Amino acid sequence: MAGAADTIVALATPAGVGGIGVIRLSGPGALALAEKIAGPDLPSRRATHRRLRDADGGLIDDGVVLAFPGPHSYTGEDVVELQGHGSPLLLQALLDTALQLGARLARPGEFTERAFLHGRMDLAQAEAVADLIHAQTATAARLARSSLDGALARELEPVAREILNLRVLIEAEIDFGETDLESAVAPEVAQRAAALASAVETLMARLRPARVYSTGLRLALVGAPNVGKSSLMNRLADAEVAIVTDRPGTTRDLLRATIAIDGIPVELIDTAGLHESEDEVERIGIERARRAAAGADLLLEIRDLTRPHVRAELPDLPGIPVLQVWNKQDLCPQDTRAGLRVSAVSGVGLDELRAAIRAEAGVADPGQQRFSVRTRHLEGLAAVAACLHRIHAAHPPDLIAEDLRLAERALDGLLGRGDHEALLGAIFAGFCIGK
Ligand code: GDP
Repeated sequence: MAGAADTIVALATPAGVGGIGVIRLSGPGALALAEKIAGPDLPSRRATHRRLRDADGGLIDDGVVLAFPGPHSYTGEDVVELQGHGSPLLLQALLDTALQLGARLARPGEFTERAFLHGRMDLAQAEAVADLIHAQTATAARLARSSLDGALARELEPVAREILNLRVLIEAEIDFGETDLESAVAPEVAQRAAALASAVETLMARLRPARVYSTGLRLALVGAPNVGKSSLMNRLADAEVAIVTDRPGTTRDLLRATIAIDGIPVELIDTAGLHESEDEVERIGIERARRAAAGADLLLEIRDLTRPHVRAELPDLPGIPVLQVWNKQDLCPQDTRAGLRVSAVSGVGLDELRAAIRAEAGVADPGQQRFSVRTRHLEGLAAVAACLHRIHAAHPPDLIAEDLRLAERALDGLLGRGDHEALLGAIFAGFCIGK
């Protein structure tokens, strides 16, 4: 982890042409450095209009400067924002000047990492910053926004309190009790630990469905030619188009589209192109689609009500559940066979299809999800529950105390309390530069 003693700089707005562009500085040298660029006496927390100059005093641009002295800033350090015109060339000149004057280019997520290290937010909140920036649907953004307010920490508070209570009970006995006698409090501690473990498991069950809003679902459409795969994909995409980010794997190309179904980011993969091909470029595309389909959460097998006997050979994707969807209901309204009957043309049955997809994701009611959840959080909670489950009334008090300590550590790890360097590196590497 970088020492917080240096001053970092990065472009905080997206690269490219824009109305304005913001360069952000953070660190002990941020104010002095910004005053070399923007002139002396920058007021705190008040926007001033300044000329922005390079290290030799040459004019680069003019713009708005905002200084946030630490500790009441995003990172907890002195932070300055230089808001210039959104010209990539001018912004690069400003960035170069800051580097020349002694700042260092920030690593991805380093501003947020510093915010975490200075206690401005817990780890789940720092993750929420990344989730919020990368949110692909409005629901995902709403959930991440709640996480940013510390929702997970609040949920975990009673758990942390009870673990502490139990530790106090058992450790008091270790400190002052006759350890060779049978423990007086172990039965009570064991019973309360078991109750707490099941409360943690209930919490996990409640949180688990929310994970899909950040991870998304991957659906592969399979079926014979002309059953309506593309039409269905377009129809679903039309209803609610998700924001397609430039993250690898979510780009829109011929074979995929990322859409939102009730706020869940859903990547649709049209496997129509999964055939043998001699063409090199096409083969690469097909191979990518095949790999993507192999990682699907669900296969939608599209059938055609007008040709009920036509059925394609499904790609060999064992272990992935298959949902059968009968398309072209508008042409066969009398057909009442069981299963999902839809029409890509009239839109009949699409609500039921969305509900079936949602059910597959384990989300009964999207309105019930309150904040974003990552796999790391669920694994952390599982570790807490496992430690608590190990506690037994017949165990010696020091063993019980150790399991409680481990449960506490697992809980602390969730919010990034304690020493978790490797974890931090992994989490902040997923950010973009400038955040
Ligand atoms: P794909 O080869 O499976 O992707 O099938 P397409 O989406 O290209 O559709 C094949 C043909 O079926 C096109 O002419 C579509 O207009 C038509 N089609 C697709 N879905 C429907 C539907 O629900 N109702 C009707 N009437 N026609 C459909």
